[in-house]
Amino acid sequence: MALIVRSSAIHAAGCYTTAPIRRGQRVIEYSGQRISKDLADSLYQDYPVTYLFGLGDGSQVIDGFSTAMFINHSCRGNCETIEDEGRVWIVAKRAIPAGEEITYDYCLWDGGDDPCTCHCRSAKCRGSMYSAQELRRRKAAARKAAAKKKKPVKRRGKRKASTPQQLPPRQPGNS
Ligand SMILES: [Zn+2]
Repeated sequence: MALIVRSSAIHAAGCYTTAPIRRGQRVIEYSGQRISKDLADSLYQDYPVTYLFGLGDGSQVIDGFSTAMFINHSCRGNCETIEDEGRVWIVAKRAIPAGEEITYDYCLWDGGDDPCTCHCRSAKCRGSMYSAQELRRRKAAARKAAAKKKKPVKRRGKRKASTPQQLPPRQPGNS
C-alpha cells in the first residue's frame, strides 16, 4: 500500500494514500510492540502524546511504531479498525481516491481529564475523539459528580472493548 506521511489539516501530520483504495481493503496494520496496559500507563504517564491501541479486553495494548500511528482521527473516517487474531488492521470503509487522507474513528476511552478535542470538521463531529459511549458515560459521571459534590467520583476501571479502540494520550500527572 502506498502511504505517505505529510502535514494534515486535521492535526499535525497525517497519513495519505497515493493510490486508490478499494472498499474493504486492508490499508495498513497497526503494528508495534505488545505490552500490558499497566506497563504502558507507567511508561507513558508523563508523555503528552502516545500511540497506544487497546487489544481485546483492553488489558494489552499495541505500542504503535509504524506509519499507521500517524493516521488521524475523524468522527466520520474513511476507514475502520478490525482486530484479527491479535493483530489490528486499518480497513477502508469505502473506496478512497488517491491523495485523500486516511482517517478512522479512534473511539477513545479511559482518558482521564483530557477532553481529547476533535478537529475533524465532519458534519457529524462529536467535538471529541472519545467514543459516543464514552461521552455518554462521562456526561453521566459529570452529572453524578455535580449532584454529590462532596464525594469524589472515582473513574471506572478498564472496560471491555468489543472493537479495538485507540487509547488517548496520557496526561502528565495522571497515574
Ligand atoms: Zn470530529
